[in-house]
Amino acid sequence: MKIKVDKEKCIGCGACEAICPEIFKMEDGKAKVIGKESKCTKEAADSCPVQAIEVKYR
Ligand code: SF4
Repeated sequence: MKIKVDKEKCIGCGACEAICPEIFKMEDGKAKVIGKESKCTKEAADSCPVQAIEVKYR
């Protein structure tokens, strides 16, 4: 699983971290990817209000 946060798009709402703290961590007002794979990743990506999270499966 490849997870990416587009820092240009991210508005720092913190939703991804709240839903999936093992993958996303807020840092300097933006979300940072800190994990590799988790069941909650997709849900967090879907919950991002600005679609800043890109998830690729392989
Ligand atoms: S949910 Fe989206 S906008 Fe909100 S902090 Fe995470 S990546 Fe940024």
